[in-house]
Amino acid sequence: MSTFQAPKGTYDLIPPDSATYLAVREALSAPLRNSGYGYIETPGFEDVALFARGVGESTDIVSKEMYAFETKGGDKLALRPEGTASVLRAALEANLHKGGNLPVKLWYSGSYYRYERPQKGRYRHFSQVGAEAVGTEDPALDAELIILADQAYRALGLRRFRILLNSLGDKECRPVYREALQGFLRDLDLDEETRRRVEINPLRVLDDKRSEVQKQLTGAPMLRDYLCDACKAYHDEVRALLTAAGVAYEDDEKLVRGLDYYTRTTFEFVHDGLGSQSAVGGGGRYDGLSEMIGGPALPSVGWALGVDRTVLALEAEGVTLDIPATTSVYAVPLGEEARRVLFGLVTELRKAGVATDFAFGGRGLKGAMKSANRSGARYTVVAGERDLAEGNVQVKDMESGEQQAVAVGDLVAVVQGKLA
Ligand code: AMP
Repeated sequence: MSTFQAPKGTYDLIPPDSATYLAVREALSAPLRNSGYGYIETPGFEDVALFARGVGESTDIVSKEMYAFETKGGDKLALRPEGTASVLRAALEANLHKGGNLPVKLWYSGSYYRYERPQKGRYRHFSQVGAEAVGTEDPALDAELIILADQAYRALGLRRFRILLNSLGDKECRPVYREALQGFLRDLDLDEETRRRVEINPLRVLDDKRSEVQKQLTGAPMLRDYLCDACKAYHDEVRALLTAAGVAYEDDEKLVRGLDYYTRTTFEFVHDGLGSQSAVGGGGRYDGLSEMIGGPALPSVGWALGVDRTVLALEAEGVTLDIPATTSVYAVPLGEEARRVLFGLVTELRKAGVATDFAFGGRGLKGAMKSANRSGARYTVVAGERDLAEGNVQVKDMESGEQQAVAVGDLVAVVQGKLA
């Protein structure tokens, strides 16, 4: 071990487990790539004000968890704690919304940073696959995103997850509700910090996990009773579309989520095998965000799915992904001349698209065959001086153990034929 370790709250992805992460990222994004979403990549850091305004000063993410810093040039930046604000910023900057082609549908995959108290499923560096559909108000778009996330989890083999669904209202009805809720909360017996929260972000108090708070919330006004007709109709349509698609969900009036920008549809995917960090993904509609960061009105909806927690959910359900061996052919030379010839053949095989690896380091037959086994290769190509004198190499089938002499010039075609 070296004197250095991964920073607190982080971990390294290393083979063979890292292959599962890649496969999960691939699976989470596959339904998006199949549904008209284009890939977007934004920087790992942004102007700190983008998150302060976009995600919200009153959120834990901005007030407590952000890695904010000042550069030598005096710029105030922050490592991105989430993806939506950056993606919207990029879409506005590139005028994607002006092409007359709304909604702008984008997907992304990357690292996010939050200075959280680390525990299982909660890290300071984590990974998300996300999707945003910008510029259109249409309940079918909200439904599409929920259906695509559901498809992604199912394709991975997950079953023990649930979809929680709520509507947070819009700029007409939410303020009325907010005031009613504040009136109720101000009369409760709450600690200093929670009192402050009542004033800046009262909906979050509903989300408080402590039983002494939850006990007092019985009888609190519920947003459902304050939704305006337009929000109600919108929400009913989202629900009807999900039901028609055969996607089961649970209405959860207490689902408010930790970000300020959500309006109307909000949802979370929770997994029942994960303990306290049960949210594997979440998202919702954010009709006001564009204006909050200085853009035009652009009603939008999106989600982010946590890659780390999806991997934990797979473990919790005992699902192992069927990840094919990355190496198809492993070449083992016996002697100097064979080394030169086989190394050339390896390059040819690779050029022909056959995943091939080579026994480097001039090791003996036994050690090299062990590596061949470990690589998962279907065939091993072995050659010594005698084989080469006859113009041959030996191709060994690692499953059946059968071995066959193949002329050097025929090797690529023979291997391709066997693998086809
Ligand atoms: P959020 O932006 O908080 O809604 O996060 C979306 C998803 O990202 C969550 O449902 C989690 O799966 C994942 N996630 C958020 N924060 C963390 C974290 N600190 N560690 C691991 N995964 C996280």
